[in-house]
Amino acid sequence: MLQYQIIPVTPFQQNCTLFWCDETKQAAVVDPGGNPELIINAIEQKGLTLTKVLLTHAHIDHAGATKAISSHYGVSIEGPHKEDQFWIDLIPEQKARFGFEDAEHFVTDRWLNQGDNVTFGNITLEVYFCPGHTPGHVVFFHRESKLAQVGDVLFKGSIGRTDFPRGDYNTLINSIKNNLFLLGDDVRFIPGHGPMSTFGEEKRSNPFVGVNAR
Ligand SMILES: [Zn+2]
Ligand SMILES: [Zn+2]
Repeated sequence: MLQYQIIPVTPFQQNCTLFWCDETKQAAVVDPGGNPELIINAIEQKGLTLTKVLLTHAHIDHAGATKAISSHYGVSIEGPHKEDQFWIDLIPEQKARFGFEDAEHFVTDRWLNQGDNVTFGNITLEVYFCPGHTPGHVVFFHRESKLAQVGDVLFKGSIGRTDFPRGDYNTLINSIKNNLFLLGDDVRFIPGHGPMSTFGEEKRSNPFVGVNAR
């Protein structure tokens, strides 16, 4: 069975998520934006074996500690989609500007696409390609427990920003309505920032993608 713990990181409290298989104790960490020591502590406390780092997108606040974690454990990096390469390449120049001094550039071991699977222990996560916030954003979905990690695509009551380079509003709306929302109303999701919600709740009440959206 899939277990998870949300670990808010950096002064901005992005949702980094530690996922693990409770049968094998194998784990994967999604979006290690910073504070690698906090993430390592959580892994050690639970007696888990980290097997990979997964990325929804390559913004520095979600990927800044990718190199630190993957090097510490000697594990591979999977994700995001290859269209986010330019964001990875911007990390060195952005770290001073945004106050993420420890962030490091990294090389991903596997780009992800719609329809791919990522695995750890007995767990399989499905990959959905959801561009718009960044051009290479992906979402991870665990079908058995109806749980998704959506990064900065969708939030409780809001959606991801599209005013960054190569962001696109219509592309983002399309990703949410025609990809994420098809997974089911009862799917719970962990966003990149803030509290969890369900796709059904956002369909009902989200001012950007809900039934009463402008
Ligand atoms: Zn972002
Ligand atoms: Zn973010």
